[in-house]
Amino acid sequence: MSRSILLRVFGGALLALASVLGPALAADEVKQVRLYALDCGRVQLKDMAMFSDTGEYDGKPGTLVDPCYLIRHPKGNLLWDTGLGDKLADNKGGVENSGVHTWVDVRLPDQLKQIGLTPADIGFLAFSHFHFDHTGNANEFPGATWIINKAELDWALSKPGPFVDVDTLSAYKTAKTQMIDTDYDVFGDGSVRILRTPGHTPGHQSLQLRLSKAGTVILSGDLYHLRENFRYRRVPPFNVERADTLASIDRVNTILKNTKGRLVVQHDPIDFKALPKFPKYLD
Ligand SMILES: [Zn+2]
Repeated sequence: MSRSILLRVFGGALLALASVLGPALAADEVKQVRLYALDCGRVQLKDMAMFSDTGEYDGKPGTLVDPCYLIRHPKGNLLWDTGLGDKLADNKGGVENSGVHTWVDVRLPDQLKQIGLTPADIGFLAFSHFHFDHTGNANEFPGATWIINKAELDWALSKPGPFVDVDTLSAYKTAKTQMIDTDYDVFGDGSVRILRTPGHTPGHQSLQLRLSKAGTVILSGDLYHLRENFRYRRVPPFNVERADTLASIDRVNTILKNTKGRLVVQHDPIDFKALPKFPKYLD
């Protein structure tokens, strides 16, 4: 075989291999904090009554998004909430359960791969709370440091009701953990702060980011499920403590006012759409 034929054959084989493996994308270096919003499923309800105890949604249908949020910081990557869980993606069209339809279109590792990351690159994992729609993929990150609110874990391990599935977060038992019981500055420079906002659950938390261009951004967790709940201070009947919820709402609203911050209501489809479409990010 002549050298040129050999090169052509070898080159062709390499190209074929590359097309199977996909482009070898390396994650780019992070100089400033970035916020990525990933699609981690959706929930469609025939009746949205459960999102206000004063009746505004009774009998009305609606859809919630269920994103995961990746925060890339020069000192590491934090995943905030982990969605419904990629197991749901095995069921094309999702699952229907008593008027609640849940589905996942795209798996979390496939999305991370688009920006050159694997689950092993996620150094820190934290949760707004332990309801199943926030813990679905948690066990995919056994190598991360799990930042856990102690009150939330104690509650989840007791009698938390139907929305908690502790099996989805069992990897915390062997993972490295950082137990917290109040606000927590994740990277020590004030740019990524977990805020204690109890009420929806005993250890519920929101996440305050300070971005260089976008300024202060607060990820709500489920302090509000919809933008209307923020506007009208509506409280879901299944919150563990109504008064604590209202106190947490007051706290976050005041921080937003003081910082001229932007609120992202995590489950609200309009807020999700307003964020840069992944793999674009806010910084
Ligand atoms: Zn939720």
